[in-house]
Amino acid sequence: MSECIFCKIIAGEIPSQKLYEDNDVLAFWDISPQAPVHFLVIPKKHIAMPVDIEEDDDLLAGKMLRIGAKVARENGVADDYRVIFNNGSKSGQVVFHLHMHILGGKGKPWPM
Ligand code: 5GP
Ligand code: ZN
Repeated sequence: MSECIFCKIIAGEIPSQKLYEDNDVLAFWDISPQAPVHFLVIPKKHIAMPVDIEEDDDLLAGKMLRIGAKVARENGVADDYRVIFNNGSKSGQVVFHLHMHILGGKGKPWPM
């Protein structure tokens, strides 16, 4: 996946501000934050989009949620964040490497 920008971030070829990393996942600040706390959690395995998640990825997908919660807690928004996965360009997905947005610290409900 040489042209995938998130694979390049994982490989260190594009810099990022990392928040958490292990063998399976990476969390880093979104470059264009849409909330006071906005970071992404991605699998190191290249999966293009949520609809491509397979049964073998069940543990990985669950880990993304757990690490999102851990990093949210570490950044003071354990009680105020939402989770978004965009799936497909019509939904607003721009980067085709699975990513979980954590948007936190807004302090009031989102429109939806
Ligand atoms: P999507 O619209 O695909 O769900 O979200 C992609 C997200 O990736 C956007 O929020 C965008 O700001 C973020 N993003 C795109 N390129 C980069 C980058 O090079 N570095 C970081 N940290 N975030 C990026
Ligand atoms: Zn990728």
